[in-house]
Amino acid sequence: VLGALLDQGTLAIERASLVAESRRNETLAERERLQTTLLSSLSHDLRTPLASILGSVTSLRGYGGQMSEADRDDLMAAIEEEARRLARFVSNLLDMTRVESGVLDLKRDWVDVTDVVRAAVARAEKAFPGRTTRVMVEEGLPLVRGDPLLLQQALFNLLDNADKYSQSGSATTVRATMGIGDVTITVEDEGCGIPAADLVRVFEKFARVTDGDRRPPGTGLGLAVAQGVVDAMGGSIRAESPATAGKGTRIVIHLPVGPPQPLGVEEKELSDVGV
Ligand code: ADP
Repeated sequence: VLGALLDQGTLAIERASLVAESRRNETLAERERLQTTLLSSLSHDLRTPLASILGSVTSLRGYGGQMSEADRDDLMAAIEEEARRLARFVSNLLDMTRVESGVLDLKRDWVDVTDVVRAAVARAEKAFPGRTTRVMVEEGLPLVRGDPLLLQQALFNLLDNADKYSQSGSATTVRATMGIGDVTITVEDEGCGIPAADLVRVFEKFARVTDGDRRPPGTGLGLAVAQGVVDAMGGSIRAESPATAGKGTRIVIHLPVGPPQPLGVEEKELSDVGV
């Protein structure tokens, strides 16, 4: 009996390691599949704006002299827009590299959320001049800990999405309020919304859920970067979208205020300079 039990035990262990092995292979295969999808989607998203820039430049060089000033201006505006899109794309990739390499852990400044929200909105207003952005910031918000520039980038990514996935002319609303032990920031748009089944998945790297043809170019990294930044600040981020499709998206960020930290080296340096 003991022998039979031992045999069963060995079998169970062997099976478990086979399962583990095949899971590892599945994960590897899945990772390779993801990388291939990523590369083809990256090449597509890089190639489309580049083709459009090259096409416009070729037209300008070939027929610019015969064109009306208005037509020339239109082509230049198209080139500028596509170039900006490419720049956004590349900066998202760079941010992702920072998030992945853990550089985020290094910066633990005191952050004034009001300043960061206003800076992100100012940047977005410049980038998307046709969009109305309403800002409602509660007075006297406490400081939080983290990286102000990266938080600004995270918020900009949300404002960028609000622009990309909404009709022009609709409004985006940004709120920053005091929650229970945290500062809550919400970015709300009136756009196409996110299907309930994808509200969590959209934060994964390279996840894109808006359907193929009408999908604006992007990396699928904007929300992953935002999540990386918020996580590194000890906070949380989630997406909400009403059940009715097309009724907008709300992204909610909670950043902990937390009790004052014990007076460590860093704090001492801060109080030395009178902060
Ligand atoms: P990208 O916008 O570059 O695709 P993100 O990581 O910022 O990447 O977003 C992931 C996906 O989530 C998008 O492709 C889109 O399908 C969806 N999404 C994000 N924000 C919104 C929004 N405000 N409204 C509708 N869909 C959104």
